[in-house]
Amino acid sequence: MQASFALASDGIICADASRRNGDFYIMYKIFDAHCDTVYELSERGLPLDKNELHLDIERMSEYNTYIQVFAAFVDRKDIKVSPMNHCLTLMDKYYTEIEKNKDKISVVKTAADLQKAKEGGVHAILSIEGAEVLEGSLAALRMYYRMGVRLITLTWNYANELADGITESRGGGLTEFGRQAVALMEELGILIDVSHLSEKGFWDVVECTKYPFVASHSCVKNICGHIRNLTDEQISEIIRRNGVIGVNFYPQFLDNNGECGIDKLCEHIEYILSMNGENTAALGSDFDGVDCLPSGICGAESMKDICKLLSARGINDDVIKKIAFDNLYRVFYQTFNRKND
Ligand SMILES: [Zn+2]
Repeated sequence: MQASFALASDGIICADASRRNGDFYIMYKIFDAHCDTVYELSERGLPLDKNELHLDIERMSEYNTYIQVFAAFVDRKDIKVSPMNHCLTLMDKYYTEIEKNKDKISVVKTAADLQKAKEGGVHAILSIEGAEVLEGSLAALRMYYRMGVRLITLTWNYANELADGITESRGGGLTEFGRQAVALMEELGILIDVSHLSEKGFWDVVECTKYPFVASHSCVKNICGHIRNLTDEQISEIIRRNGVIGVNFYPQFLDNNGECGIDKLCEHIEYILSMNGENTAALGSDFDGVDCLPSGICGAESMKDICKLLSARGINDDVIKKIAFDNLYRVFYQTFNRKND
C-alpha cells in the first residue's frame, strides 16, 4: 500500500481497483495516429505482445487506454510481389498477432467499438499507407473496408494511381481515379490521410471532400523545413475543416539539424495550438517507421513523458487530453458514425 501511495502522489500512476484488481496504470489515455510496427513484425518475424521494437502490447497496457492506428505500409519500389499481395501479407500478420492476444487487444471497426475502447485497455485500428495497394480498383477499396481498414494514407512519397507523393518533382494532384477513391472513402467511412501527399494533391483533397480529414504523421514546416512537413496554409485548412494533425516524432521532421529532444516535439504541438488548433493537434508517432527518435523517447512507454512535458510547459490538462486522445477519437467517431447523420 505504501508503494501505491508513493506512485499515486506522482499524479501519473493510479491504482486501478476496478479494472485490474489493484494493479497500477498510467493515467493518460493515448491515441496514436500512425505506426509502422506491423511492417517490422512481418519483416523480422516478431510478436506483438512483447518485443524490442518501439511498440508492443505489454507497454501499451501500462496506460489507462491505448488506441493505436497500425499501418500496412507498402513501398512499391521495395517489394518483389504486387502491392496488393504485400498488403495482404501485412494484414494477415496484423490479424494473426491480434488473434494470438485477443484477451489483451481488440480491433476497432465501428463507432460502438470505439466507445467501448474508450473505457480502457489496448485497441487497434487498421490503416493502409500507400493506396497503390488498391491497384486501381474501387472493388479492392470496398474489400479493404470489409477487412477492417478505417484510414488510408493516399500516397507514400511516390506517385500511385490516386495522386503524386511529396517527392515527385512534377507535383501532380489527384487523378480521376484518386477523386473516385476519395469520394468512395467518404461514403464508406474510411478516414482520408494526406501525410506524404503532394501539395497539389492536398488542395485537391480539400476541394473534393466534405468531411474532416487528417495528416496522420506530419510536422510544422515553419519550424523544420523538411519537404514532408505542412505549411501554415495547410495547417490552417486542416483546422478549419475540423481535421487532425498527428505530429510525427521523427527528428528529421522536427528539427533542421535532424537531432532533438522531446521539447522540440512539444514546440510543434504548441505551434498548432497557437493557430487555434487545440481540436487538431494530436500524436502521430511513426513508431517503427523511423530509424531514430528524439532523445528521451524510446517507444510507447514514453508517451507519458510527452504529456508530462506538455503539462510542465503550461498546457492545461484538458488540452493535453485532446492532444493525447480526444481529437483523434472525435474524428474517427465522426467518420464511423456518419451513416447515422
Ligand atoms: Zn509514413
